Amino acid sequence: MEKVNFVWDSHYRCNFRCPYCWFDKTWDEMDKLNKYPPLTEMIALWDRLYDMYGECHLMVTGGEPMLYPNFIELIEAISKKHTVKVTCQLSGDMFTFARKLNPERVRLDMNFHPLESKLEPFIKKVLYLYKYGFKGGVCYLAYPPNMDKIQYYDDIFKKHGIVMALAAFHGEYGGKHYPDAYTKEEREMMLPYLGDMDRQKYHLEGRKTKGKLCRAGHIYASIKADGTVTRCGPLSNKPIGNIFDPNFKLHDKPMPCEAETCPCDEYKWIVDEER
Ligand code: SF4
Ligand code: SF4
Repeated sequence: MEKVNFVWDSHYRCNFRCPYCWFDKTWDEMDKLNKYPPLTEMIALWDRLYDMYGECHLMVTGGEPMLYPNFIELIEAISKKHTVKVTCQLSGDMFTFARKLNPERVRLDMNFHPLESKLEPFIKKVLYLYKYGFKGGVCYLAYPPNMDKIQYYDDIFKKHGIVMALAAFHGEYGGKHYPDAYTKEEREMMLPYLGDMDRQKYHLEGRKTKGKLCRAGHIYASIKADGTVTRCGPLSNKPIGNIFDPNFKLHDKPMPCEAETCPCDEYKWIVDEER
């Protein structure tokens, strides 16, 4: 069986307040979903998943994962059995993170949020992480008011040997709906930063996915902070179980997509011949 991948929304707390955040205006409500079992229970949970599926790949997001209690200790334990990717904004103690975790087992997605982050300390942390063997580029959201600074930040990151990628904004801004509202010029400017053609089709053009056979739910699943498991982000209102339930298991085969579009990178779970 192919390696199983999980995305885990560790918790819905963050020390930043980015206006484009999924959780903007719902932080208090989302906070009620947060669940903080003792460290030993969390380690046992990931041991159970190891016994069921072997070595999995865990992608940790949030909120800001670095604010999750005992986060570094937890990832240190989990990464002995599974590979891990942490998406974070580097405001936490990345120095301890760099020293304690194994870059062969733990990867980083580093998001730069220009309205909240300070550039210099951010770069300092990225370079420190590189020194300890961590790899990975920096991601910048093409949020309409931040578009004019893309080149500026890219130039600075490049000078330090840091690769910057863009993510397209999906949401409302200035009475317009994005990504549809990006102009032709903006799209052309963004293309080199968006990567492969599939990413462009699903990210920027909102390609329809309903009915396509997809392995989300079979070898990939999304775990919410309260343990609810869904096939993927776009189907977050259709739970397939709860990770804290000892009887939880994934679907035993790919299933048709039930969402209209797939705006995150999860489109990659669509079964190849059905794309
Ligand atoms: S850093 Fe991430 S989780 Fe925190 S407010 Fe910004 S977008 Fe949201
Ligand atoms: S295509 Fe996207 S939205 Fe549809 S099931 Fe797969 S991951 Fe979910």
